[in-house]
Amino acid sequence: MKKEFIFIGPPGSGKGTQTKKLSKEFNLPHIDTGSLLREEVASGSENGKLANSYMENGQLVPIELVSTIIKNRLLKEDCNKGFILDGYPRSLEQALALDNILEEIDKNIKSELQVFYFNVSQEKLVERLVNRRSCSKCGAIYNLKTMTLNDKTKCEKCGGELIRREDDTEEVAKKRFETYFKQTEPLVKLYNDRGLLTQLDASLDIDTIYNNLKGAIKENVYS
Ligand SMILES: [Zn+2]
Repeated sequence: MKKEFIFIGPPGSGKGTQTKKLSKEFNLPHIDTGSLLREEVASGSENGKLANSYMENGQLVPIELVSTIIKNRLLKEDCNKGFILDGYPRSLEQALALDNILEEIDKNIKSELQVFYFNVSQEKLVERLVNRRSCSKCGAIYNLKTMTLNDKTKCEKCGGELIRREDDTEEVAKKRFETYFKQTEPLVKLYNDRGLLTQLDASLDIDTIYNNLKGAIKENVYS
């Protein structure tokens, strides 16, 4: 059985961390569109050049082009046993595009799709973002509330100065999340209506979320 997972959740929900853990344990490729597009551009392919022409101008890469790039990625050999899509689809339009992709690539394959939604309140997300600090040298991310360092101004790994990103303010964070929720609500509803969605409480700690995640994975997916 081919294992196909979609992880949906706002920035700061811990979705990326959970994807990495599951990807490692089940040896499934972790595919996020941001990295995928950057790799495609770096490869110098025709699709990469085209995508870059939009990105350079600060425009969104058209959905058809993203679909083509994703489809090509999902057809690679390391996806034969399955994959985890992290942050894609992000809108109803993308979800419908993904339907077509999966129909095409899984024509003669037994596959099972499961969608996980990392549910966390806007208040909690805003609080996490406002308390976020990053290292000016190595980019490591810290949270003022949970960090155990004595000196909360220096990076534990490299000693670099910890800074607050300009857009990590309450106002900007709130706006970002409102946009995000508006965009993903119909998507969550779609997968829920299809009986494919599992909601996870993403306000819990990393290990508990991971256990809940694994507990919700359908048994035959392990085989
Ligand atoms: Zn550092």
